[in-house]
Amino acid sequence: MRRGLLEKSAHITGGSITNIYQSDLALLFGLYDQIFFQSYFRDHFAGKLLFSLSPRMTRSAGKIIYPKNLKALTPEEERYELRISVILLFSYESLPRDKVVNGIKTSDSLEALQLVFEHELCHLIELHCFKESSCRRPRFQTLAFNIFGHTDSCHQLPVTAEIGREKYGISVGDEVSFLIDGEKYSGVISRITRRATVMVPHKSGDFQDREGKRYCKYYVPLSMLRKNRSENRK
Ligand SMILES: [Zn+2]
Repeated sequence: MRRGLLEKSAHITGGSITNIYQSDLALLFGLYDQIFFQSYFRDHFAGKLLFSLSPRMTRSAGKIIYPKNLKALTPEEERYELRISVILLFSYESLPRDKVVNGIKTSDSLEALQLVFEHELCHLIELHCFKESSCRRPRFQTLAFNIFGHTDSCHQLPVTAEIGREKYGISVGDEVSFLIDGEKYSGVISRITRRATVMVPHKSGDFQDREGKRYCKYYVPLSMLRKNRSENRK
């Protein structure tokens, strides 16, 4: 599987993924279909399968998108989109700790991708066969264990909030500063997703708190933030 993908993909060249396209997910699916499902999807699946990569999924590593009215659809109308978070793949090496996915310790981001992909494949199969799916229920867990040996259905890949805390020492609520064109701005982190949301006090800002204080909202990469020293606080 791993070797097959490395041989066929023009973008994935090793265990550490630095470049990936939707076509790589289609390639990977083709290999799984062939090896694990006896090409069931190629030969018998009448619906539509799409693959996508998301730069905005900062907590989930993968998901499957499908029509709400799945039960009412004919086999030809079935439509699934398997989406993978590129953020989580590209952040794989940002923290030097164990990264367990589906109960299995991974050694690189390609292995993590495969495990996340396998999890979504289990959702796909459950949806296709039963028109509903939940990885919290025994049916899914049995399926995932029997096909892929998964013993759990969650990932412990580094997410941005943890990278902020561990690598940059910042978390939500912290007072931070950052530079734009040499000018220093200070504010409080209100949220951390792909970047940190920093609320900077400004008299004509668009955002107002309960006390009527106004703020401007900035989206700042974590690496650009400096935590303010507590003795500077007034
Ligand atoms: Zn799931």
